[in-house]
Amino acid sequence: MNKRIVILGSGESGTGAAILAKQKGFDVFVSDSGTIPENFKSELNAHQIAFEENHHTEEKILNANEIIKSPGISDKNELVKKIKAQNIPVISEIEFAARFTSAKKICITGTNGKTTTTSLVYHLMQKAGLNVACGGNIGTSFARLVAEKNYEYYVLELSSFQLDDMYDFKADVAVITNITPDHLDRYDYEIQNYINSKFRITQNQTENDVLIYCADDELTLNNISKFEIKAKQIPFSFLKKLAIGAFAENGIIHSSISKENLNPFTMYINELSLRGRHNTYNSMAAAIIGQVFNIRKETIRESLSDFQNVEHRLEPAGMVGGVEFINDSKATNVNSAWYALESMEKPTIWIAGGVDKGNEYALLKEMVKEKVRIIVCMGLDNRKIHEAFGADVDMIVNTTSAKEAVHVAHKLAKAGEAVLLSPACASFDLFKNYEDRGRQFKKAVKDL
Ligand code: ADP
Repeated sequence: MNKRIVILGSGESGTGAAILAKQKGFDVFVSDSGTIPENFKSELNAHQIAFEENHHTEEKILNANEIIKSPGISDKNELVKKIKAQNIPVISEIEFAARFTSAKKICITGTNGKTTTTSLVYHLMQKAGLNVACGGNIGTSFARLVAEKNYEYYVLELSSFQLDDMYDFKADVAVITNITPDHLDRYDYEIQNYINSKFRITQNQTENDVLIYCADDELTLNNISKFEIKAKQIPFSFLKKLAIGAFAENGIIHSSISKENLNPFTMYINELSLRGRHNTYNSMAAAIIGQVFNIRKETIRESLSDFQNVEHRLEPAGMVGGVEFINDSKATNVNSAWYALESMEKPTIWIAGGVDKGNEYALLKEMVKEKVRIIVCMGLDNRKIHEAFGADVDMIVNTTSAKEAVHVAHKLAKAGEAVLLSPACASFDLFKNYEDRGRQFKKAVKDL
């Protein structure tokens, strides 16, 4: 009898896994405790894949040989506990898909910068003419990509939840952009568990593989020696000169992946299309990957200078009456908002707030003093922001919609100043998600 694979959750990753598993001849069943979106349902039907929605039927699940669990489902879920108690292997869709391809995998994880770096590396490899696809935690699932076509390279964004259910998967090139506290509710409020999860990206790597990381990132540096890493380590830094790796000096990034290299890659920071120190880090990671794959320096330089950033990440949102508007709605934590503020070159009206996940605003205090003139709160409960920054800025104003926030900010801003939406918070008190927040912001700017 065919091996039975049960897939829990039918979003993009579950549906992709189902399509691939069916194609490979497994007995496939998909079970979702919620309603499956219509587009995925019709795909399951078209592929004649059995599924259920709005509930889980245990008899149809606990008879599986292997379970593919969507990253959104926690190990604390009662059904998952039962599955584990019966010793049925639980894997992620990424682990499953990797069994069916021998292509090279460039894998990017970290707390912030995953999507930006993944998209940038994809852009670079495409420009170099390689047969490459991009997906994972963004866009198309890895399983779907593997089912659809043979690529030679995959650039994959990986979340810690995906890494948690990965065992034999090997990244040819792994990137850890940075590690700061996030998602701790899924990690028993132990930062070490979250760190361990990020470092799973290096498991199974050999001497022929590469691990790229940020040498200025405290949690990465303090933990790297705790793991047995066989891969060649190539760091990047803003603060120190590196013999191997990428670093910044006098407005230029330099990158060398071997000591013998007498001719390192160099590029002016002001020629990078992505602004801000965080994005220089992301560009350095991409430059290293370009060198690892022997891509011509000219192509690397061109790619890093003409890359169009993904929506909602320090995205230019227009200029009105000499005031520049910037949409960084994706900044849902303090760390990403810090980098957004750091990148500001004009006096700033900062739109912040929403649902905070236990934010430590003290980390932003110095940056706010230096860059921000006025704070416009956009959220239902803004007390913490008032308490944290009341003494540091000229004024703090409360608003409860993107339209109101944009109007107030526009009124208060002087020509030559910038209005930055970089909330440091989740969006679901006032919006559907961060995309909705960013789009409403952009629309409000257009309507001014
Ligand atoms: P992720 O996919 O990890 O959430 P994104 O690339 O979507 O990361 O960026 C999320 C937020 O973090 C954005 O506000 C962005 O400007 C900021 N950011 C991007 N790269 C970095 C980085 N290397 N370090 C800190 N913040 C970053």
